[in-house]
Amino acid sequence: MDAEQLRECGHKMVDFISDYYKSIDTFPVLSQVQPGYLHKLLPDSAPTHPDSLEHLFDDIQAKILPGVTHWQSPNYFAYYPSNSSVAGFMGEMLSAGLNIVGFSWITSPAATELEMVVLDWLGKMLKLPEDFLSAGQGGGVIQGTASEAVLVVLLAARDKFLRKAGKNALEKLVVYASDQTHSALQKACQIGGIHPENCRLLRTDSSTNYALSPDVLNDAILSDIANGLIPFFLCATVGTTSSTAVDPLSALGKIAKTYGIWFHVDAAYAGSACICPEFRHHIDGVEEADSFNMNAHKWLLTNFDCSALWIKDRNALIQSLSTHPEFLKNKASETNLVVDYKDWQIPLGRRFRSLKLWMVLRLYGVENLQCYIRNHINLAKHFEELVAKDSRFEVVTPRIFSLVCFCLLPACKDEAFANKLNHDLLNAVNSTGKAFISHTVLSGKYILRFAVGAPLTEERHVNAAWTVLQEKASALLGTTL
Ligand SMILES: *Cc1c(COP(=O)(O)O)cnc(C)c1O
Repeated sequence: MDAEQLRECGHKMVDFISDYYKSIDTFPVLSQVQPGYLHKLLPDSAPTHPDSLEHLFDDIQAKILPGVTHWQSPNYFAYYPSNSSVAGFMGEMLSAGLNIVGFSWITSPAATELEMVVLDWLGKMLKLPEDFLSAGQGGGVIQGTASEAVLVVLLAARDKFLRKAGKNALEKLVVYASDQTHSALQKACQIGGIHPENCRLLRTDSSTNYALSPDVLNDAILSDIANGLIPFFLCATVGTTSSTAVDPLSALGKIAKTYGIWFHVDAAYAGSACICPEFRHHIDGVEEADSFNMNAHKWLLTNFDCSALWIKDRNALIQSLSTHPEFLKNKASETNLVVDYKDWQIPLGRRFRSLKLWMVLRLYGVENLQCYIRNHINLAKHFEELVAKDSRFEVVTPRIFSLVCFCLLPACKDEAFANKLNHDLLNAVNSTGKAFISHTVLSGKYILRFAVGAPLTEERHVNAAWTVLQEKASALLGTTL
């Protein structure tokens, strides 16, 4: 590791990345390569002798970038966004530069303590109840993803119940969520040994805009109890991945409390919007939750990965995940004066991820971040209006945040035909490389998703994407605009 070499190469890399951002809208947003394309372009084995950085840059340009889908493109409207920013990028850089492994407090006190501080900051921005903050029995921790967040709290809840009911009760434990819940919950159940037949993904439909009905939940719980099963975990979502449905936290939380069930709230995408006072009501009821999660790496300008998890009773997590091998013993940990985040997560090693969140919050400030969110929501509103004005299309679910769910209406009412039409429209749009959108299925209906949230997106990009959609729709319907 030669510091001067790092300076020289690092400057070149920053130049390369800056040039990339400058020309990012000239690339096809969705990579247009075929499966296996790279294998043909690269040698079969690693080079025996070192190659030059110049050669490497040539290969990045010629071979890697064509196989990149440009998540930071202003024309990116698929899935949910995955934000990058100057502050977030610099945080990643510093984290890579220090390259610490912060599993215990002693391995880099700043890493642990900064993480506690910034998650308290973010918790206050979200107006989370005090018991989620680090001063009490709870606290925040950065996980890699929302999937890891739901897994660790499910394990904490499972073990809490098994301590009471005995370890043979595992086959009786039941999980509840709506059928709109992210598949991460199902994966957590698979890993956590929850029997697949005990995962209740309760049906939702358009009558509640795909939110979980408290009555449906209550009935399911009562029927399970009557059958000798043990309800133990409820996962509610604020801003589902399909259509941004918002589960009614207050009502669900009361039910969870009645039966003593662990209540987890997944706000991976929409949590960011709740830093704005006018959207905060979507997480009203979070006081009832045992754990709450949002991804700062989706829509809060923090480069991937940075998933913020808060828990009210940190001991529940620690009891499930802590180990005490001899080689990690140290005075600070033994005196119990410090947090050792290794006991709050699956892996031992962990990166200094709080740096990038800290930099984002400091260099932009809460007010700018709120404006950033509002701007995307206004752009989505604008797109929604464009769709509503074209009678060939329909907005399918009410827009709540920055996602618009819509579809092209066929001349006939045949559902299979309508689904194919929208599927074809999606492919036609995405293969232009001018915009990238994704889809979902709601009540058997194939639906297009237009999610605004890339940092570089402006109104002109939304308009341009809409023009492409209209042109491709006209071509498919055999009409002209
Ligand atoms: C994106 C998303 C997830 C999964 O996120 P990862 O961080 O990639 O695991 C989970 N839940 C919701 C509601 C999401 O939108």
